[in-house]
Amino acid sequence: MANVTLKSVYKVYDGGVTAVKDFNLEIADKEFIILVGPSGCGKSTTLRMIAGLEEISQGELYIGDTLANDVAPKDRDIAMVFQNYALYPHMTVFDNMAFGLKLRKVPKDEIKSRVEEAAKILDISHLLDRKPKALSGGQRQRVALGRAIVRDPKVFLLDEPLSNLDAKLRAQMRTEISKLHKKLGTTFIYVTHDQTEAMTMGDRIVVMKDGIIQQVDTPQNLYDFP
Ligand code: ADP
Ligand code: ADP
Repeated sequence: MANVTLKSVYKVYDGGVTAVKDFNLEIADKEFIILVGPSGCGKSTTLRMIAGLEEISQGELYIGDTLANDVAPKDRDIAMVFQNYALYPHMTVFDNMAFGLKLRKVPKDEIKSRVEEAAKILDISHLLDRKPKALSGGQRQRVALGRAIVRDPKVFLLDEPLSNLDAKLRAQMRTEISKLHKKLGTTFIYVTHDQTEAMTMGDRIVVMKDGIIQQVDTPQNLYDFP
């Protein structure tokens, strides 16, 4: 079970900025949840706390039934996809996708089959020998997704993954990520400031402002006015 629960979570950065205040949310197993709100409202900080990349100042984070506050990022059964792709420029697509598995000492044969399987799902099988600089923006984003998929995590965290793409590719990738969510049957937590992404992709939307949750509801209830 990959439900994720945050109980009265706070983040106060060194220097005193309170980025997230009294954040309470229960995310169901297999749910596609969207965190939306203006720049600086605490979306990224929330995601990074779930990933374990930022310490939680106060409150509790549960991944499944496990209190995860002090669990190391690599032991959280979570994979994160970043806005800027964060691919290693000197490595091929294959090695970029294999990196996290090598780190976890997965056997070579299994790495190969998992990378090939993920590449097939994302339609990048023909690109495995390329370096990132020889890829288009959309292809790079697929590789970043692939690097997360090969890990077979229970929870996917996506931080504005489409914001560097042009409008046409963004529309295409919205559909692809929705399909991917259904196909993988995992929990997706997706950060964006794009209303269209929020409306079309999420099961539920969490609207944040100044580090505080303003509203949590389905896209229909949030955006369909009578
Ligand atoms: P969003 O993702 O919604 O744009 P962030 O979570 O990045 O918002 O930022 C929330 C607040 O925390 C902002 O005021 C930002 O300036 C501040 N902040 C983010 N990262 C740090 C940091 N490493 N140190 C200090 N303040 C930070
Ligand atoms: P986009 O317009 O989607 O950003 P590009 O114009 O960057 O795409 O690339 C178009 C096609 O050419 C893509 O299929 C991409 O894989 C290929 N391509 C781009 N750069 C290189 C390169 N340096 N070497 C080989 N193929 C490339």
